[in-house]
Formats: sequence, C-alpha cells, structure tokens
Amino acid sequence: MSRTVLQVRNVTKRFGGLVAVNDVSFDVTEHSVMGLIGPNGSGKSTMINMISGSFAPTAGSIRLEGHELAGKPAHKVARLGVGRTFQLVRLLPELSVLDNVIAGAAFGHRRRWGAEARAHALTLIDRLGLTAVMGMPVSALTYIDTKRVELARALAGDPEVLLLDEWLAGLNPTELGTGIALIRSLRDEGRTIILVEHVMDAIRSLCDRCVVMSSGTRIAEGTPAEVLSDPEVIRAYLGD
Ligand code: ADP
Ligand code: MG
Repeated sequence: MSRTVLQVRNVTKRFGGLVAVNDVSFDVTEHSVMGLIGPNGSGKSTMINMISGSFAPTAGSIRLEGHELAGKPAHKVARLGVGRTFQLVRLLPELSVLDNVIAGAAFGHRRRWGAEARAHALTLIDRLGLTAVMGMPVSALTYIDTKRVELARALAGDPEVLLLDEWLAGLNPTELGTGIALIRSLRDEGRTIILVEHVMDAIRSLCDRCVVMSSGTRIAEGTPAEVLSDPEVIRAYLGD
C-alpha cells in the first residue's frame, strides 16, 4: 500500500463572491506525481497557493503527514515540508544564483546553514546546469535559467512534497525535453510531486494520477489515460 503524504479534504476558496475552488478533495501518495490539470481559471494555482500557505482556505483541511497546513503562513508550511515554484517566477533578483539557492536551503524543510548550505546549493546548481551562471544576479539570466533557479531553490529545502506550477510553460521544444527529463529524474529518485501542467506530453509521461479541475470543481480523477479520454474532461478543455 502506498502511504498518503498529503490529504486535501473539502477545500473551498472564495474571493468575495467568486468561488475559485469548490469543495475539492484528493490524496497524494508518497513517491508519486499527481497531476493537477484543467483549463485556465479552473482554480489550480489557487489550490497550490492554499497548499503552500500563500492563501488560507475558506473551508476545508489540508494535512501533510498529519499536520494541518490550512491557515498556517507560508514560512511555516515550508518548514513542515512543502516546497514550490511559482507560475510567475519569484526570486531575489539582485542576488546571485548561488545566494538564491542558499536562501532556499536555509528556509526549507531541512534547514542548512553556512558551509553545509553552500555545498548543498552547489550540488543542485550543478545538477540543474547552472554552474556557469551561478555568480550572476538572477535579473541577468535567461528565462529558462530563472526557472532552473526556482526549481533549485525549491529543492534546496528538501521538501516532502514539491509543487510545480506550470514550471514547463514558455519553454521551447528543446528546453521542454530537458525539463521533462529533469522532472522524471526527480520522480525516479522518489520525490512526491504535484504537477500543475498544460503540456500534454508531460502529463502523459510524468503523472501517476491526475485530478482534473473545471470552474473550481474536481470533475475527474484517475490515470492520465483515463482522465484524458473522459468526455467531461474533453468538454471542459474544449469549452476553455
Ligand atoms: P488556474 O491556475 O487554474 O488558471 P487560478 O487558481 O489562478 O486558476 O484562478 C481561479 C479563479 O480565481 C479565477 O477566476 C481567478 O481570477 C480567481 N483568482 C485567483 N486568485 C485570485 C485573487 N488573489 N483574488 C481574486 N480572484 C482570484
Ligand atoms: Mg495557474
């Protein structure tokens, strides 16, 4: 039996009169990739923001290894074990690549400081192909490299659950191949990932299961093959 790491139960988020997420539940099992998919505006990023503590849910429960996350601030949620990237990259632009990744090591789940944080950051920088630019300020990087730094920063804290919000968006075909291979290597080393993604090749090849959202509601759950052939899911995407 696979162990449940993250349990999302009856989670709702309202922004004034708008219900962005409506009574959504799902489980994420250890060492798996859960795809969170659906048309634009269906509530995926709002769900990610609630899991990571950027937003408090209006109702419902989000448990990581038995710890309630709902309503906790983002820094506490990160400490408890949730790491993330943002749909729109958020880094410290004037600091170097290396310092951004070291910051991730200092504020994540397993905190590292000083020489240990630096050594850990250098390992990730090497793995993500950032060695040549590690002294540069993030503001001077190409788009793909800023995305790599975001991922390195999220990984630096050794999260129990890694949330990737459209990390592959905006990459060219070559970069996309590299990006998918990189996420696959994270899966193969046993990480637990929630992948918000529009790239169908990535969904098919990376996700063990998918939850499909439309207009804030969970409309389907299953393997990628199951949900992508579900008439209701196809209708939701075509209506986008
Ligand atoms: P997705 O990531 O699936 O494209 P979002 O979660 O970003 O969708 O948005 C879901 C809905 O919630 C949209 O209608 C969006 O306009 C609304 N929304 C998202 N964030 C906010 C916010 N901070 N304030 C008000 N409305 C928001
Ligand atoms: Mg989004």
